[in-house]
Amino acid sequence: MQTPSEVLNKTVAAVPDRLVIERIELRTVRLPLNEPFETSFGRIDSRLIFLVALNGGGETGWGEVVAAEEPLYSYETVGTALHVIRDYLAPAILGEPLRDISDLAQRLAPFRGHNMAKAGVELAFMDLLARLKCQSLSTLIGGTRERIPVGVSLGIQPSLDHLLERVDRYLALGYQRIKLKIKPGWDKELLAEVRKAFPKVIILADANGGYTVKDMEQLVTLDKFEPIIIEQPFPSGAWLTLAKLQARLSAPVCLDESVTDMDDVELMLQLKAARMVNLKVGRVGGIANSIRIHDRCKDAGIPIFIGSKIESGVGRWMNIAVCTLPNVLYPSDVGASERYFIEQIVRDPITLVGPGLVQPLPGTGIGTELDPAVMLKYTIQTEVISR
Ligand code: MG
Repeated sequence: MQTPSEVLNKTVAAVPDRLVIERIELRTVRLPLNEPFETSFGRIDSRLIFLVALNGGGETGWGEVVAAEEPLYSYETVGTALHVIRDYLAPAILGEPLRDISDLAQRLAPFRGHNMAKAGVELAFMDLLARLKCQSLSTLIGGTRERIPVGVSLGIQPSLDHLLERVDRYLALGYQRIKLKIKPGWDKELLAEVRKAFPKVIILADANGGYTVKDMEQLVTLDKFEPIIIEQPFPSGAWLTLAKLQARLSAPVCLDESVTDMDDVELMLQLKAARMVNLKVGRVGGIANSIRIHDRCKDAGIPIFIGSKIESGVGRWMNIAVCTLPNVLYPSDVGASERYFIEQIVRDPITLVGPGLVQPLPGTGIGTELDPAVMLKYTIQTEVISR
């Protein structure tokens, strides 16, 4: 059987003749959240969404940049991504025919870092290609699975009672794994209560890099709350500390912020720094890199799941397409959209199609269109770059 990388090379290689990107639209949209979302980085009550549209061959493809407003999760922000796309990435791809997906990657490669900005452009390109080829994005990238198990990610809640009530509600909807945000001082007691109330649920305890080497002993004691996965306990560059912790835990360490490219994956494997990856398409520069990481992890026996950055429907449908790849073995953070936003910017919001299950839309590209009225209502700024 072909790996997704091979499928991608074959199906995406043939870009329709002389596909020229004629116009690029950069749009920021502020969507209010249903309720504030709190992590160890702080608390937000709205999400500034950054969308990229590429026009070419008579179609439009949409992508989403997952950067936040502040450089907390990563150094990139909506502001840096706007600057990088407007001033560097857009001029590199406008007007000159694009040969294939590797041609796109080569044009973006000279600009160091800025994976989230690059991913926004690449995702729009992938959506455009799928639409021009009259295929769903999932088919275009070699996805094989139809229904995707989803987990739920809960921010830090105002009280333990509140949290337990939430967990109960989501488990009743069939969500297949619970992700809890932990930080020093908000971990053991929380996990003990959740484990007591829900003895079997898989707990993914995400620290967003909030611990230091001084907390090693505390983290080792979390093993007793199995089945548990400890996500990104130390900051992204703390490879040796991560490896030391993984060596002492029977629970898997899962890496999120640490994995931004294939070199990071190789480092993780060599150091045995983790046994699972939370792959965020936006963090690693887009779908082509996601597929490379997916295939490498599959060879190495490392399961992955697809994480989320509170994307709008555009980014979430993209993520669901990537979830159809064969090694996305754990429930992914791609649950129903109404969990996050009061109003949806796409015509087809993500809904559960069975207990804890979602599936890609059958249409071309991401399978849905933007809702012009909602876009208009929440748009902050639009910039158009054309030849
Ligand atoms: Mg995380």
